[in-house]
Amino acid sequence: MATTLTAQRIKTVGVIGAGQMGSGIAQVMSHYGECQVILQDIQQQQLDKAQAGIEGSLSKFVSKEILSEADKQNTLGRLQFATDMASLKEADIVVEAVVENEDLKKNLFRQLDELLKPEAILASNTSSISITRLAAATRRPGKVIGMHFMNPVPLMKLVEIIRGAQTSDETYAIVNDLGKRLQKTTVVSLDYPGFISNRILMPMINEAIFALFEGVGSVEDIDTVMKLGMNHPMGPLQLADFIGLDTCLSILNVLYDGFKDPKYRPCPLLVQKVNAGYLGKKAGKGFYTY
Ligand code: NAD
Repeated sequence: MATTLTAQRIKTVGVIGAGQMGSGIAQVMSHYGECQVILQDIQQQQLDKAQAGIEGSLSKFVSKEILSEADKQNTLGRLQFATDMASLKEADIVVEAVVENEDLKKNLFRQLDELLKPEAILASNTSSISITRLAAATRRPGKVIGMHFMNPVPLMKLVEIIRGAQTSDETYAIVNDLGKRLQKTTVVSLDYPGFISNRILMPMINEAIFALFEGVGSVEDIDTVMKLGMNHPMGPLQLADFIGLDTCLSILNVLYDGFKDPKYRPCPLLVQKVNAGYLGKKAGKGFYTY
């Protein structure tokens, strides 16, 4: 019989995808979780960028006296970077944070299911793809779960945990404990399109884009209304740029397809920005220029 894991016994964490989310997840798993972390990506360039980003972020914590230099070095010492997936073989949990594409994620889950020990947990940082469908690509649906971190991961306090239709109570308990070990507040959502966070956030962002598209207001005025009028720390258009416009578009499509409700149709302006490659902050241009 497969042995069970508790968050305390999660020693080795694999993270797949060294983009903005994966690098942050690797950082907090090593820093707060004190886990051995292997961050894997198919692009060496992304790994190099992630390594520099993590070092920079930890140095900022040191300069603000949130972290000691020794803690920084220990955190870096627990991190490894790899381009081959086989490096994740010994992981107790793998958190996948590759681009928001269902076929790609299913394919990864299928491969991880073959590679990892039977008791290992497969988590996805997906913003919107069904955990139940990802789980169905594996022979361990009870050990598949959503672990949805917020951007930027080292600063944001929330992890939304998504229970697929077959996620076991034990898997949920382990991942919930792990989230707390990372000093995050955890919430639980059932597996319906957009979960809790994006079901509420994305229609607001889409409406802001429609307001811009229809000429109701300028980029700056729309964002200023939400910042000063509603006390949001960031306007919806700037937030969309930070999330990535491609990610916003795919989440809206998941909501639209999942609920079959036209209220979720993505604004044509968002589609056009993505087609033009104006993907937001990571591309240097979105609703704003960076
Ligand atoms: P990103 O584009 O910054 O990074 C994606 C990374 O995945 C890239 O480094 C890419 O090289 C890598 N990758 C692609 N295919 C791969 C493969 N087969 N194997 C290994 N690596 C591969 O994307 P991101 O913004 O970090 O988003 C990643 C995930 O996190 C998505 O599912 C997204 O929905 C989710 N998410 C994003 C945010 C956000 O604000 N950006 C917030 C919460 C969740």
